[in-house]
Amino acid sequence: MAEYSVFSLIREGLTGHKGWIRAWRDPEPKQSYDVIIIGGGGHGLATAYYLARNHGITNVAVVEKGWIGGGNVGRNTTIVRSNYMLDGNAHFYEHSLKLWEGLSRDLNYNVMFSQRGVLNLAHNDGQMDAYARRGNLMRLNGIDAELLDRDGVRKLYPHLDYSTDARWPIYGGLLQARGGTARHDAVAWGFARGADRRGVDILQNCEVVGFERDGDRITGVKTSRGTIGCGRVGMAVAGNTSRVAAMLGWKLPIESHVLQAFVTEPLKPLIDGVVTYGAGHFYISQSDKGGLVLGGDIDFHNSYAQRGNLPVVEDVMANGLAMMPHLSRLRILRSWGGIMDMSMDGSPIISKTPFDNLYLNAGWCYGGFKATPGSGYAFAHTIAHDAPHETNREMGLERFETGHLLDEGGKGPTPKLH
Ligand SMILES: Cc1cc2nc3c(=O)[nH]c(=O)nc-3n(C[C@H](O)[C@H](O)[C@H](O)COP(=O)(O)OP(=O)(O)OC[C@H]3O[C@@H](n4cnc5c(N)ncnc54)[C@H](O)[C@@H]3O)c2cc1C
Repeated sequence: MAEYSVFSLIREGLTGHKGWIRAWRDPEPKQSYDVIIIGGGGHGLATAYYLARNHGITNVAVVEKGWIGGGNVGRNTTIVRSNYMLDGNAHFYEHSLKLWEGLSRDLNYNVMFSQRGVLNLAHNDGQMDAYARRGNLMRLNGIDAELLDRDGVRKLYPHLDYSTDARWPIYGGLLQARGGTARHDAVAWGFARGADRRGVDILQNCEVVGFERDGDRITGVKTSRGTIGCGRVGMAVAGNTSRVAAMLGWKLPIESHVLQAFVTEPLKPLIDGVVTYGAGHFYISQSDKGGLVLGGDIDFHNSYAQRGNLPVVEDVMANGLAMMPHLSRLRILRSWGGIMDMSMDGSPIISKTPFDNLYLNAGWCYGGFKATPGSGYAFAHTIAHDAPHETNREMGLERFETGHLLDEGGKGPTPKLH
């Protein structure tokens, strides 16, 4: 049974669920592929999907060292938005948001995309001015944005601390109503199924451990399941980018840091959108199961440790409670960490590389989940045409040499500058 539909659900429900087929196969690696994508996260899987769907390139393998959905795509807080100011980012993320809007239908897989609105709070006149400017630029780029004053924010979220002696007094905020959340692992599974159905091999438990080269050309990818020949190679390994690049003796303008997230015990509906505030670097939303999903800043030092630690737990809780004191009696159920690939200007890299047939997708910092469809779309185009798509034209690696940085606001890998 290929398609998911209400009819297939009813039919399977009445016949003991015996007719479903596996969402993706578990094939043995072939001797070679036209394209090998390293990394079975959201970006790698989306790239494989769009290579097949948009460019007819189906002799493709996604090579994943663990299991798909086990990296950042299954660890993030699922915020989706396109509230960027600079053209180089704005058009890319807005294209991605438009893809999100049709994604469940396109993949025939419910990614539970919920446009519940993303609100950034402002705490002084200067920040309100900055948000007015950002909102105006967004609207000029055809992206929805609404500047709210204090009463407008209070109407949406009556439970925040509106007292004038609050640590972070609320002056207003910038709302993107089309932003929201999605079900993170469903995104990985939906792209995996879509790619598999178009002939892509998804190779799990297959770690890339080195490369075979002929000068600047990659001729094979050495993996824990043997060496696989390749026409072109796309690298989409997020927090492991500098480690995989090091296998080629290649240094990148990327630092890896841990980012943690938390979920509380379930509550009745309390927060029906996403609320963020940069001053304390805190963000929160409520999952469909009722748990509050919250997060904060990256670790203050570099690391590849995919786990949490207490100093950041304390920092996130202190900043959250400063804004929402009424959450103080809630219990945290779970916390986890993911390794973030922080670029030096805070913007991503989707680019050709100094190697003839190697392409790079990296530098997603705090926000690569929202980019997943747009990134896969642009990266697939870049690999298929050996040239950027119009949406990732300004995301080239060469910008770190020429100085044409895509610096949305001095974020990069430095904690608390976001
Ligand atoms: C706690 C947290 C909260 C976040 N919140 C948000 C948010 O709200 N909104 C948002 O937009 N973004 C958010 N992000 C960022 C977002 O999750 C990432 O930027 C994005 O998922 C990265 O792309 P990916 O999905 O391809 O990465 P991943 O899922 O990490 O995929 C990379 C894959 O490469 C594999 N790999 C690594 N090395 C090798 C190797 N040698 N061989 C083979 N495979 C390899 C890994 O196992 C992994 O599966 C958050 C991240 C974290 C950790």
